[in-house]
Amino acid sequence: MSAAVIPDGILEFDPYRSVANEELATRIDAVRAQLGSRLLILGHHYQQDAVIAHSDLRGDSYQLSQSAAGSDECRWIVFCGVHFMAETADILANRPEKIAARDGQRVDVILPDMAAGCSMADMAAIEQVEAAWEDLAEVVDVDQITPVTYVNSAASLKAFCGQRGGVVCTSSNARAALEWAFQQTPRVLFFPDQHLGRNTSLGMGIDADEMPVWNPHDDQLGGTTPEALQQSRVILWQGHCSVHQMFRAEHVRQFRERYPAIQILVHPECMQEVNDLADISGSTGKIIETVRGAAAGTEWAIGTELHLVNRLKSEHPEQEIHFLSPIVCMCATMHRIDLAHLCWSLENLLAGHPVNTISVEPETARWARVALERMLKIK
Ligand code: SF4
Repeated sequence: MSAAVIPDGILEFDPYRSVANEELATRIDAVRAQLGSRLLILGHHYQQDAVIAHSDLRGDSYQLSQSAAGSDECRWIVFCGVHFMAETADILANRPEKIAARDGQRVDVILPDMAAGCSMADMAAIEQVEAAWEDLAEVVDVDQITPVTYVNSAASLKAFCGQRGGVVCTSSNARAALEWAFQQTPRVLFFPDQHLGRNTSLGMGIDADEMPVWNPHDDQLGGTTPEALQQSRVILWQGHCSVHQMFRAEHVRQFRERYPAIQILVHPECMQEVNDLADISGSTGKIIETVRGAAAGTEWAIGTELHLVNRLKSEHPEQEIHFLSPIVCMCATMHRIDLAHLCWSLENLLAGHPVNTISVEPETARWARVALERMLKIK
């Protein structure tokens, strides 16, 4: 098939829709062979298998960005994940010292489908957060609040934290980040994921009464009260992951009734009632390591994204792995990146017309980096 070319030399996407996956795979391999180690294709753990098969590295969002940023040869990153991940890759791969070491050359970071966003990240738009900060200033001293954002957030929100003495966290270091934040100020604003914030804070012994939830759609102090904010320790932003919130306490109970030896393993983006009932709660990395390290014959019900659970099932046939929910819980936005989009973006790159490049505005990138670097210093 010869792809149609639109006036500026970019290959049109539409013809790629009708190409069979076998042919797309062959063409993707051909571009990879031509671009060699200057090209890095990153595949997030939640990505579909057909795309993972073409990834140079597989990991969670932060691991992938760090690995890509550490490569000296890489000139193009194709991030098979979602928008905030590509932003983080751009921020880390295009640090001023990295650009200088490459004689001024930037790394192009490409997201094969611009519609691959994250509903959780979208729940904390920077305008909402700035408005909330102003409202908070009317009832508490905001100089005594450390903003902490989960890495699953827009670059603008990471920059907001960087500018205000705050920090970024991942699901694996959320507790360390909160402990660090409490060394700075007596109060924290945690966003966008209320569940990660709540589960982590409860694990640190913080009382539920000290965690009001800020609803960005309620213009009356986010639906809280001055008293609740004044006695708060962690103000939780009302955001969630649409995938992980589908796991329910009744799913845990049903598995326990049916399989008495079952181990329930969940991600801390799940709701508190699920997290509390689980045997183990941990980041994507911890989930993978836990399964890898378990004895043959272990029975698991795992509460995280479907593609990862299915991959664990096929990579660990010696264990009995179940998906915790009867409903399909998959990251639909990440799923938008398929072989057609990957092939289209790669062939445009080869033709000298990178499409869907993600470039964070320099001042935003600078402050976001401040918050990311604070996270790296936390032990
Ligand atoms: S799984 Fe949830 S948090 Fe992760 S990218 Fe998808 S919507 Fe966002």
